Amino acid sequence: MQDPIPYPQTRRDQMAAYSQRHYGVASAALTPKVIVLHFTTGDTWQGAWSTFAANTTNRGEYPGTCAHYVIDYAGVVHQLVPLTLHCRHTIGLNHVAIGIEIVQSLQGHSSAWAEQQILGRAAQVNAALALVRQLQATYGIATIDVIGHAMANSHRLFVDKLGWTNDHSDWSAASVSTFRSRL
Ligand SMILES: [Zn+2]
Repeated sequence: MQDPIPYPQTRRDQMAAYSQRHYGVASAALTPKVIVLHFTTGDTWQGAWSTFAANTTNRGEYPGTCAHYVIDYAGVVHQLVPLTLHCRHTIGLNHVAIGIEIVQSLQGHSSAWAEQQILGRAAQVNAALALVRQLQATYGIATIDVIGHAMANSHRLFVDKLGWTNDHSDWSAASVSTFRSRL
């Protein structure tokens, strides 16, 4: 369902400026080539929505973080941002990547544990798989370009002109391998 966060011209201008600084791309217009999986660490899709809608600085820069989709525990796919726009979810790949957040609380557990919870929650993971399949078909994205946030720094399209790298551990290669095997 459509649950858009506010993405007015001011935020688009902030996004374009970010993309210029980090990618040398003076635009917020997205042509999707990669799909990045995340999990929220929070317990509700509304919590992620509120964080992304707030448009607060991250690492001292605007715009705020966001993702194109959030998938809740029941498997409802919430679209927050149009696929025509960059979203700040993965350093080095925001100019080419669709971001999908999957709701999963962490409660002191490891990322691997969290990913196993998602992979074992049929309604939610099946919704994620269906969404990814649809996006792959629409944009011609190969399965090798369906990655986890934790894999982003080594992706062939990774670039950051300011030398930033990701320090997030969500969706390791092992868990993504399991996810890919079901596509
Ligand atoms: Zn992430």
